Amino acid sequence: MCGIVGYVGNNDAAPVLLHGLAKLEYRGYDSAGICVRQNNLEPVIVKAEGKLKNLIDKTDSGKSLVGTSGIGHTRWATHGNPTVENAHPHHSDDYNVIGVHNGIIENYQELKDKLLRNGYTFYSETDTEVIIKLIDYYCKKYKKGPIDAINKAMVRARGSYALAIMCKNYPDQIWFAKKGSPLIVAKGNDGCYLASDVPAILKYTKNVYYPEDYECGVITKDSIKFYDLNGDELKNKKSVLIELDADSADKGNYPHFMIKEIEEQPEVIQKTLNYYLKNDVIDLSSTGLTDDFLANIRNIYIYACGSAYHTGVVAQYIMEEISGVNVRVELASEYKYREYSQRPQSLVIAISQSGETKDTHESVLKAKERNIPTLSICNVQKSTISRSSDYNMYTYAGLEIAVATTKAYSCQLINLYLLAIKLGRLNGTINDDLYNELISDLKRIPSLVKEIIEEKDQIQRIAQNLVPMKDVFFIGRGLDYTICLEGALKLKEITYINANAYAAGELKHGTISLIDEHVGVIALDTQSKLYEKTKSNMVEVKARNGKVLAVTNYGNYDVDSASNDQIYVPKINEYLTPSLAIISLQMLAYYASIAKGINPDKPRNLAKSVTVE
Ligand code: GLU
Repeated sequence: MCGIVGYVGNNDAAPVLLHGLAKLEYRGYDSAGICVRQNNLEPVIVKAEGKLKNLIDKTDSGKSLVGTSGIGHTRWATHGNPTVENAHPHHSDDYNVIGVHNGIIENYQELKDKLLRNGYTFYSETDTEVIIKLIDYYCKKYKKGPIDAINKAMVRARGSYALAIMCKNYPDQIWFAKKGSPLIVAKGNDGCYLASDVPAILKYTKNVYYPEDYECGVITKDSIKFYDLNGDELKNKKSVLIELDADSADKGNYPHFMIKEIEEQPEVIQKTLNYYLKNDVIDLSSTGLTDDFLANIRNIYIYACGSAYHTGVVAQYIMEEISGVNVRVELASEYKYREYSQRPQSLVIAISQSGETKDTHESVLKAKERNIPTLSICNVQKSTISRSSDYNMYTYAGLEIAVATTKAYSCQLINLYLLAIKLGRLNGTINDDLYNELISDLKRIPSLVKEIIEEKDQIQRIAQNLVPMKDVFFIGRGLDYTICLEGALKLKEITYINANAYAAGELKHGTISLIDEHVGVIALDTQSKLYEKTKSNMVEVKARNGKVLAVTNYGNYDVDSASNDQIYVPKINEYLTPSLAIISLQMLAYYASIAKGINPDKPRNLAKSVTVE
């Protein structure tokens, strides 16, 4: 959510800042702004509503702003409408402190009241203006410099923030502070940078520092310094080398990141498998998990949000069936506020593409408080969640930019399959035959996914039928139901069609009353033991004039009589079919979105990494 950037260096700052903000666009935003300063001269702030293009036009691609230091921001409004007035950077009345902020200051009203009592006035509705003015207040009251003022503000503010700050008396320096919101800091040949995420700085450097919560610091054109809450300098911070290419943040010849990322799936699934599958043996040594530890686990609690939660549901069905372990999957946002006793011999698994999802992170913290070991499945290495977890089983999907996840979801599924099979093997619930079949079929997934992607013309044709629909229900039983959850989310995220998933057996318990000729039903029917049951549900929908699209395995051609359209997926061990069926549903949503004239990379109101509650 939102993006912040900062730069001090040898070059003009505005183009660097605008480039950085463009690379953070994927995170979602509704307005943008920058502040640029040349040495001791007055800083210049420019802000614009709507797309970044408006800011780029307003500043003549940055050429109208002269200065080698600056900060920039794309705002995802939480406090106050997305207006120019509320857009960042915000400033104290005398421009002593100017700053951008990602996150939410929860006690902003209490802090605002304090500042009002001290003669401050406010021009915006944002919580950000409050924190900026609080820093200004401490600067002036204690006169001990920015680090002291920022630390005092950090002690007072509740909530989450990544802050980039410019101070009047400290030209060519940008100050930063972090708690709960992502922030990276980096040094390149032509200056130092800070940003919410690596794509913003990949063009300049791959050596990145990760400030921890409650740390602050300062960049100049050739140095980075970190401080703790006491104001003591932290001299042992280590940088991390990022393994991404600058190209991975580009669309290349693809019209959208989403289709690029869908088509990258064979490759990234293979890459993820290669990390954990060595000579047909599941090797989790890089995660820190040992066989002895895993063999002792009797209960798994999976906490996640959105699509990551849906991979958790797939994992629950599979793990409980093949590994003999009890699994409970729960939305991280619910777990956080619930109280129930968690059993001994447990493992908490937190799943998040970005590794910054706030609710999921808090689940990890809660589990740690309860002394339950935590395993994270994140795509972004060294992210907040992975750093907080005891064990990390990364996915290797590469940079995912489209808001609607595709390749990260698929890689999460792979990790969960590997874990389920490993547990089953350790617990003796998977015999040699099943083990060999699962491993050899896991290895087939990349090429089978490729085959499905090659069918895109047919899926594009079928997707046209979804365009006029207001409601689409996804139905399925067992593992098919778990895939319905993700299929429905994909469709609603990027087409704005009201799409909901139901266990097919629930149809008669309510949903069937909504079926008529205007309603589409997408029936997943890939599990042979449930095939006839779900086919009967399709017939019931058709009898009420609903339009049925069946998604089933090659060979199940009699599904024709129960449905209006069909998508066939290759046959594989049925535990693994979700990895194939979901590809068709991702493409269906993508092409329906295009047919509706929506940009699937940037659906309205959504942000890529949800760093607020
Ligand atoms: N809460 C701040 C605002 O509404 C920052 C939002 C953001 O992270 O973009 O301006």
